[in-house]
Amino acid sequence: MDINNIQSLKELSKLEDYDPRSLPVKQAREYILKFLAPVKQTERIPIIESLGRVTSSDILSPINVPPHNNSAMDGYAVKASDLNSNMETRLKVVGKAFAGKPFFGDLAPGEAVRIMTGAVVPQNLDTVVMQENVELQKEEIIINNRIAKGTNTRNAGEDLQKGKIAIGKGKLIRPGDMGLLASLGIPTVEVFRKVKVVFFSTGDELVGVGEKLGIGEIYDSNRYTLRGLLDRLGCDITDMGVIKDEKKTVENALLEASASADVIITTGGVSVGEADYIKEILDKLGQVLFWKIAMKPGRPLAYGKINDCHFFGLPGNPVSVVVTFYQFVQNALKILQGENQAKMQPIQKIKSGERIRKIPGRTEYQRGIISFENGEWMVKTTGDQGSGILSSVSQADCFIILDATEETIEPGHYVNVQVLEGLV
Ligand code: AMP
Ligand code: MG
Repeated sequence: MDINNIQSLKELSKLEDYDPRSLPVKQAREYILKFLAPVKQTERIPIIESLGRVTSSDILSPINVPPHNNSAMDGYAVKASDLNSNMETRLKVVGKAFAGKPFFGDLAPGEAVRIMTGAVVPQNLDTVVMQENVELQKEEIIINNRIAKGTNTRNAGEDLQKGKIAIGKGKLIRPGDMGLLASLGIPTVEVFRKVKVVFFSTGDELVGVGEKLGIGEIYDSNRYTLRGLLDRLGCDITDMGVIKDEKKTVENALLEASASADVIITTGGVSVGEADYIKEILDKLGQVLFWKIAMKPGRPLAYGKINDCHFFGLPGNPVSVVVTFYQFVQNALKILQGENQAKMQPIQKIKSGERIRKIPGRTEYQRGIISFENGEWMVKTTGDQGSGILSSVSQADCFIILDATEETIEPGHYVNVQVLEGLV
């Protein structure tokens, strides 16, 4: 059986290379992808509120952009065929055209119009001569060189033609798209509704920020990290707080979450030892798979469905939360949000500025810092790479991704790097 024939999560176990005890990152990603489809409902919103949303239909251009032939330069609008090829041309300047203030007069052969950038090129004229290439003598301009027809003009419809697709379905709306929609005079846009994500932390040792720490207790940081990650993706978020490690409490929390969510994300409780009772609950409520991913950090990961709701059980370790979110959850959410070009953050090669210790077997996501030193880009780790060291994430601007087969990297060798931020 191959992955394309899989209908349910249970059937994954029939795949030849399915090994939940050591699943390569790529394979886990492929499995999850199999069960994802965009939300169905859409809504129409003003373009001013559309940043980060995803178009749910093709948007056709209602007009030509630009609507008229216009000048790309300050200069003089002329008719190319009026220009002499091997001697100077004298043309009479009979009017002015400014952006928003066209020249409407009639033109006789041998006449030109003073024109500014963005102004409509007058009827019968077709070319703009830059003012720097013109000698002005009273009412006349003298042009000494031959200029090709259409030079320094922007043609009507050269950006977008009326009736053509301006923005396709499934496109993440970025600042340039908002501008593009405005340039078409389109006030509202149809988008997929937001994905509803409910999340909670599990652990008896967890205390909320603002409370006093007892012996053996720690502050719950994962919910804050998740909050930030989900906010950036524009999800509709519900935070259910900290849930104690008790069977009934966890079960009730999952039931409550699955009633309203598209996606449930939990942290903690999926590692060996704890997994048993969580597993029992999830088996009862839905179909959930427990994986040990061949990665570091982020080894235990649960994925499945509770009714129609997707479930991601992330590890409890704070760094593992960040790594598993970026490597598995982020793209899944983008697909659920309707993005058809959803893709992982690109990976690029950067020279390592230090020795990076690595044992073959698992893909490592070390936290790194990129810097520009002696004329080239370099990457170094943030130091200690323990999965509980959240300061490594705070300092990092990238993951240094070392493939499962790779061994210790020597300084000066190139490593795969995935930056944490894009252009904003
Ligand atoms: P677990 O996966 O539940 O075994 O947790 C693994 C480690 O992560 C333990 O050291 C937990 O104390 C810690 N941990 C779990 N949840 C959180 C959380 N929400 N915030 C901070 N640390 C956590
Ligand atoms: Mg725990």
